[in-house]
Amino acid sequence: MISLQPLTNPKTSPLYCHPFSPKTLKKKPRPLTVHSLLQYNRKPQLSGETPRVVVITSGKGGVGKTTTTANVSLSLARLGLSVVAIDADVGLRNLDLLLGLENRVNYTVFEILNGDCRLDQALVRDKRWSNFELLCISKPRSKLPLGFGAKALTWIVDALKGREEGAPDFVLIDCPAGIDAGFITAISPANEAVLVTTPDITSLRDADRVTGLLECDGIRDIKMIVNRVRTDMIKGEDMMSVLDVQEMLGLPLLGVIPEDTEVIRSTNRGYPLVLNKPPALAGLAFEQAAWRLVEQDSMKAVMVEEEPKKRGFFSFFGG
Ligand code: ADP
Ligand code: MG
Repeated sequence: MISLQPLTNPKTSPLYCHPFSPKTLKKKPRPLTVHSLLQYNRKPQLSGETPRVVVITSGKGGVGKTTTTANVSLSLARLGLSVVAIDADVGLRNLDLLLGLENRVNYTVFEILNGDCRLDQALVRDKRWSNFELLCISKPRSKLPLGFGAKALTWIVDALKGREEGAPDFVLIDCPAGIDAGFITAISPANEAVLVTTPDITSLRDADRVTGLLECDGIRDIKMIVNRVRTDMIKGEDMMSVLDVQEMLGLPLLGVIPEDTEVIRSTNRGYPLVLNKPPALAGLAFEQAAWRLVEQDSMKAVMVEEEPKKRGFFSFFGG
């Protein structure tokens, strides 16, 4: 059974299909019915001390950190929380592209540190969700700004905390790949981490190394998102299951995101997946992960065989 947590009543959700509706009867095999295991008509309870400063990291590049930052940030904003997302990927910044905000970034942290602009001028407020703001460290393809490091980023985050209009509920930091200076800088102001991994051995080895480094830095609250999961490959034993991943890394699970072509489409359109109507499966999974992040909750991975005679469909989600 796939557990998803729609934000609205599941019966009005575009993914809901009554078992005996004409729509259901016409289609073979039966469309996926979305079951909600969690409460839906309520707002999540914000847990922990605010602002929650969360770094989205992985070690390996291309596993979905920026995709996760964009979608989780906007999900949090849609839940009514104030969010600042910081693109800490110096030189290879692309969070602005994923959010469709690339034409609105006039100033970056680089200009703040140079004294050329104020913090509020470098913050790009999203027109769709005014409680979401983006902050970029530098212009694309630029080198690490002179004097920029752990201290400077911590200073920026402290300045966000001390803003006149109040501190944001969440500061999400999109970490660059690797474990060098950029990584050390990005994790320095964070109190918690979301480790993004794909179910393959190279990504897992890097994730394991990064977990150790985060713990050395004093970040004990580490949760993981397993991205690009394919049930067909798990079933054919060509891909590690989420249970295997969890056993290997021993981290609480924040979310499981399926491989979904909609992610690539939304990346290229600069329109985050969670804003799609009807919501894509990966978008719902990101929303669910955001919900858990707010409540400092985690999920259990379970392997369930659903209706084996009809469809032999294996699932990997839990409640
Ligand atoms: P990172 O920031 O870790 O380098 P990105 O978020 O930029 O990774 O993602 C790398 C590529 O993988 C992008 O082209 C993105 O569209 C794609 N991608 C990420 N997650 C998924 C997914 N669940 N399904 C399909 N494609 C994905
Ligand atoms: Mg990235």
